[in-house]
Amino acid sequence: MNAPQRLFAFPGGLRLPEHKDAATRAPSRACPLPPRLVLPLSQHAGQAARPEVAPGERVVRGQRIARAEGLGAHLHAPAAGVVVAIEDHPVPHASGLPAPCIVIDVDPAAGEAALLPALPDWPAIEPAALRARIEDAGIVGLGGAAFPTAGKLGRPIDLLVLNGAECEPWIACDEMLLRERAPAVRDGGRILARIVGASRIVLAIEDRMHGALAAAREALAGADDIAVVAVPTIYPEGGERQLIRVLTGAEVPSGGLPADLGVLCHNVGTAAAVADAVLRGLPLVERYVSVTGAGVADPVTLRAAIGTPIEWLVAQAGGYRADAERLVMGGPMMGRALPTDAVPLVKAANCVLVLTAAELRDDAPELPCIRCGECVRVCPARLLPQQLHWHLRAGDFDEVEAHALRDCIECGLCAHVCPSHIPLVEWYRWGKTELRVRAEDRRRSDLARERFEARKARLEREDAERAARLAARRASAPAATAGDADDPVAAALARAEAKKRGAATEDADGA
Ligand code: SF4
Ligand code: SF4
Repeated sequence: MNAPQRLFAFPGGLRLPEHKDAATRAPSRACPLPPRLVLPLSQHAGQAARPEVAPGERVVRGQRIARAEGLGAHLHAPAAGVVVAIEDHPVPHASGLPAPCIVIDVDPAAGEAALLPALPDWPAIEPAALRARIEDAGIVGLGGAAFPTAGKLGRPIDLLVLNGAECEPWIACDEMLLRERAPAVRDGGRILARIVGASRIVLAIEDRMHGALAAAREALAGADDIAVVAVPTIYPEGGERQLIRVLTGAEVPSGGLPADLGVLCHNVGTAAAVADAVLRGLPLVERYVSVTGAGVADPVTLRAAIGTPIEWLVAQAGGYRADAERLVMGGPMMGRALPTDAVPLVKAANCVLVLTAAELRDDAPELPCIRCGECVRVCPARLLPQQLHWHLRAGDFDEVEAHALRDCIECGLCAHVCPSHIPLVEWYRWGKTELRVRAEDRRRSDLARERFEARKARLEREDAERAARLAARRASAPAATAGDADDPVAAALARAEAKKRGAATEDADGA
């Protein structure tokens, strides 16, 4: 039996209307496979994967079709079929630009699934081998960041947090996963804890998620290695830093990582994917996704293949309502508007949200800042949002850096409460991109300067070595006159004078 967990408050935050009922009123449904899957080569943090298949090739479910390059994740076929193209395609990326994708025409009869060997005896397997399995299965963080999971498992950890605090309105995929697959979350958590050597595991679930809490407690009845903790429902508590603060009272330092505190945080969906990879040999080829919002006819949570077009997912939710106005991947606070529903479901996508005009607030005209301080009050990162905005507008990036824009988690609360309707988060996203470009420019110019200085030092060293060699040769050569060794010019003049004298003597003798 675990002792009750002491909880702490995090700065800022807000209780938001939840709208979760829409996608939780019925069990999740398996989404039928679409005729065509589109799999972006870059749907994770890091480098794009390199294709291992060619157009015309047949593939089966679970087959690896693209290999991770550097920091990245492998990509696997979610269904059997034929690769029909590797080409640029619209993707749900902030840039809005098309990106390379592997396109598969689905044919479920094309072959048996190619799964990895199941590892039911995982408690006896070395942590490094378990970590390799997670890498082989192409698992990335399913809470939205899509960071390759194996890349977070390299440091020793004391506390593993399984994050089930799905705080953003409308999104309900983690809640449904916990209700339906709590044992998989439990098993994945134990596997992750073995890899990093964590001595404690906490499964944090928002206190409003009664069904998820009940399912988790049932899955862990009699177990004392994982504590199920109900945390208050405050947005953005599901943020890694905020949740760690709530559970431990500690703050992840600016520019630091949770691992600096001995803490590791993984989304519950990631934990279930780890269990699937280890216990069933199943790579990451599908996920829970909420298709919801007032703009769809029949909101639902689906279990869908990665690569399924959003248009197909919306059709499973009864299609668009007449007043549908905006399509978003993610939630209303942190999600990104999609210009088209032709983009595919990616590993990180937890929600497809369709909003109506009534729910859109950002069409209101932007007004000057009235310095009300509301944005400061709600900011969970202890930032000064209005000052960041001023400095960004002025292009003063030294001040922007000094005001720690990098610590902004883009939770959207400041813009949500701003009575002047200033699109603050859009400014911050732009500012972060600018800072990255500036940092890259700085890195390149530092590199060029280092190369120049290294070359200069090498030339000076070679000159000095050459001079030393010359001096050594002279020192070892027999001295012609006393001054020769010291002054080569004087020696040359003396030789010329001697030659001239010799010639004059011959002329006199011959006269
Ligand atoms: S909430 Fe808006 S108006 Fe108020 S201080 Fe912040 S930026 Fe200015
Ligand atoms: S978006 Fe950034 S600045 Fe605004 S409240 Fe959230 S963390 Fe603070």
